[in-house]
Amino acid sequence: MQPEVTQAGKQPDKMDRIYLDYNATTPLDPRVFDVMKPYFLEHFGNPASGQHAWGWTAEAAVTKARDQVAALLGAQVHEVYFTSGATEGNNWALFGLFHQIRAENPGAPIHVLTSAVEHSSVMNAARALRELGAEVDFLPVNSLGQVEPDTVARALKPHTRLLSFIWVNNEIGSVNPIHEIGRLAKNNQIYFHTDATQAVGKVAVDVDAAGVDMLTLSGHKIYGPKGVGAFYLRERRPHVTIKPLFFGGGHEKGLRSGTVNVPGVAGLGAACEILRHEMREENERVTGLRERLWSRLQAALPALRLNGPEHERSPINLSLTLPGRPVDRALPKLQKLGFSTGSACSAGRVSVSHVLSGLGLSEADAACTLRLSLGRWTTAEEVDRAAEILISAFGSDRI
Ligand code: PMP
Repeated sequence: MQPEVTQAGKQPDKMDRIYLDYNATTPLDPRVFDVMKPYFLEHFGNPASGQHAWGWTAEAAVTKARDQVAALLGAQVHEVYFTSGATEGNNWALFGLFHQIRAENPGAPIHVLTSAVEHSSVMNAARALRELGAEVDFLPVNSLGQVEPDTVARALKPHTRLLSFIWVNNEIGSVNPIHEIGRLAKNNQIYFHTDATQAVGKVAVDVDAAGVDMLTLSGHKIYGPKGVGAFYLRERRPHVTIKPLFFGGGHEKGLRSGTVNVPGVAGLGAACEILRHEMREENERVTGLRERLWSRLQAALPALRLNGPEHERSPINLSLTLPGRPVDRALPKLQKLGFSTGSACSAGRVSVSHVLSGLGLSEADAACTLRLSLGRWTTAEEVDRAAEILISAFGSDRI
């Protein structure tokens, strides 16, 4: 069974569909797959098997991937840990630090600041920290979905120990002023974690310039495999110590036990290497396509609103609201498009995305919101066809 891959590396879509949901997940880059494949088949060794060649070959792949991830982040190699993805990384940052502080200083109050528009893996982990006794505040964001450094500064308490803010929002694409928040954290000697899952490969991420102590990323948002991610933990100035989430055989310097997913990690490394060389050019191209899509839609649907900032936004994301035009009613006309909606109906109840409500959107407007996200294999022809489909679905009064 041979996968059909065109020269451009694009999987041809026989159904003539257009994938505009790169924020949800990205296709694996065939170059990444080529790197991964031997580690499923001939190089299947366990990197922890230090006494034979199978183990050494696997270990060499993991070492190479650690170098590649570190190079993309401006980190030291020993500051990179492999995980199962960003959900794990985000949980690890919050629980790992909380348990460490608790162990060092039992009974001392711990205040954690995060925002109202985080990914659910931070939101729900932060809620769970409350049950363990932490004081957690979910800061409001401005009307563009960004955390304002002044809001953070005003919310600090003498016992604030951790800030956790998303770098680039997964729903609305807004970019947070991470560098400013990083300076604030440093000046106040507070640990700083960022969920950079949607930032890596989209904006310049350098852990020292940003002043972050912990950073989370995920393979499947950067044309790498699903179920693998990396976690950055600062080693120097200051050295950050956190507790493991998993206990076991002591892999990853005892901080993340579990046999390392060698093919996944090799793929994640390759995905980072590709980004290091190509992201600047790729982002320019995708930004051009995103602007082409936005201007076509805006011209035909003047009431259309862009959520989030016009400039400080992810190059791939368009979050759009067309008041009075619920997306679910247009769905039959949108079957050929892969995109996300701003609210979901389950068991007869409409649940509005917490990000859109955090932005101040009403339930009605959230139901009229869709997220289009572009990527490595989006073409101008696809953008034009997608615009036509959207305009005919939303432009008519009969939806
Ligand atoms: N954080 C953000 C901002 C995300 O977009 C996602 C994926 N939707 C995650 C965390 C979770 O990542 P993973 O799928 O690797 O667990």
